[in-house]
Amino acid sequence: MIVFQGVSKNYNGKAPALEEVDFKVGVGEFVSLAGRSGAGKSTIIKLLIGEDKPSKGRVFFGQYEVNKLKDEDLPAFRRHIGVVFQDFRLLPTKTAYENVAFALEVAGRRSREIKELVPQVLDMVGLGDKMKNFPKELSGGELQRVAIARAMIHRPEVIIADEPTGNLDPFHTLEIVKLLEKINELGTTVLLATHDKEVVNNLEKRVITMDKGRIVRDDPKGKYILI
Ligand code: ADP
Repeated sequence: MIVFQGVSKNYNGKAPALEEVDFKVGVGEFVSLAGRSGAGKSTIIKLLIGEDKPSKGRVFFGQYEVNKLKDEDLPAFRRHIGVVFQDFRLLPTKTAYENVAFALEVAGRRSREIKELVPQVLDMVGLGDKMKNFPKELSGGELQRVAIARAMIHRPEVIIADEPTGNLDPFHTLEIVKLLEKINELGTTVLLATHDKEVVNNLEKRVITMDKGRIVRDDPKGKYILI
């Protein structure tokens, strides 16, 4: 489903952000992308969602060759992918319900559909009773669950989470990881980028470890060993 073929990325710095990266992720997998800050995890995500282009190599998602997509094709392409970030990126003046509904409104969905879909997805993340709360009235874990609900609203084939637990305490971290596991069990592929050793090692799932822009390990039931 996801294929990186000989991908390198040079920003203008001395060391490349990615160097000769090759990996594949199959439908339904749960893969952790582990590595220290600066290892190249976010760059992989940016190339995958077409936010940036590789300097060399090819990036595939399903039938799309992402590096060849034109700007006007990107919004429709990105509906196949749900993305979640460390800083939640919710709109502060909208409620949990409105934040999720907004993603459907901009995609031109009908209000009848929106009224049906938004409560369903907020229930799935366990926030059915907090739909009317504004972001300032929610905990960090709840904010991330709203962000996950928004990422899931187009029923994407894959969820990409870039350090989703970076701003959370250990309790809420566990809650979010469990939610990502549940989403994966329901059939969505998950790619989780994190520098958190505990998170990766408790999962006991595939781990791709990065260091200085290269893949240094790829273990099917791996551990994140600091290098
Ligand atoms: P990670 O997500 O693992 O922390 P990144 O992919 O963000 O790592 O960064 C990898 C390297 O690329 C770092 O050295 C970073 O400074 C550099 N980098 C990332 N984005 C840019 C950019 N837009 N311009 C210049 N350098 C960048």
